[in-house]
Amino acid sequence: MDELGPVARGWEARRCYTLRYLSHKCRSISSITLNTTHPMAQPLINPNMTSDGFVLRHGIRNTLRYMNASAWRAYNITPMFEGLTEQSGDDKVDAFIRANVFGGAHVVSTASMGPASSPPGSDVVGPDFRIKGVEGLRIVDASAVPFMPNGHSMAVVYVLEEKAADIIRSGNAA
Ligand SMILES: Cc1cc2nc3c(=O)[nH]c(=O)nc-3n(C[C@H](O)[C@H](O)[C@H](O)COP(=O)(O)OP(=O)(O)OC[C@H]3O[C@@H](n4cnc5c(N)ncnc54)[C@H](O)[C@@H]3O)c2cc1C
Repeated sequence: MDELGPVARGWEARRCYTLRYLSHKCRSISSITLNTTHPMAQPLINPNMTSDGFVLRHGIRNTLRYMNASAWRAYNITPMFEGLTEQSGDDKVDAFIRANVFGGAHVVSTASMGPASSPPGSDVVGPDFRIKGVEGLRIVDASAVPFMPNGHSMAVVYVLEEKAADIIRSGNAA
């Protein structure tokens, strides 16, 4: 899957515009698991991006409704997806989502932060960004965000990094 996504691939040179539906409040939970004990082996990654079908279906139908607005008729816009309409059944919308969904380069929370007291294995770093069970190592990047607030990830990363800098400067360095 590339940055444009499978639908838009090959359309860049045509006279067209594309409208992407981005779910910034995505509730699908993916997973990343060690495959072997070899440190250089590839992990098992399950993006699981379609587990929150309700939100994705709603977003696709809203996008179709927007593109169907009378304001666009003057531009002779023809949808790229033959037969997919706001009224299409869940099966058809789900098939479209499965064929076209992609991460959009905003993947977060693979080393999620949790409370200091949470049970082992339920999260990766504590509130001081230290990796639980590991001495002298912190994670300060988008992977530590436990869940993404509405909006783009970069702003959240800036806040996270400022907070980590304050903690480390305050003498709480590992
Ligand atoms: C094409 C694209 C467009 C985007 N557009 C937006 C946008 O418009 N608005 C927005 O808010 N967000 C946007 N994002 C998302 C945003 O860039 C990320 O959420 C953010 O950069 C994540 O920050 P990070 O510190 O976790 O990771 P990164 O910014 O990816 O930083 C990771 C750093 O670690 C380094 N690194 C990796 N492996 C190692 C290693 N083994 N040893 C040492 N260093 C290593 C890398 O070189 C890199 O400098 C976009 C992302 C992409 C790819």
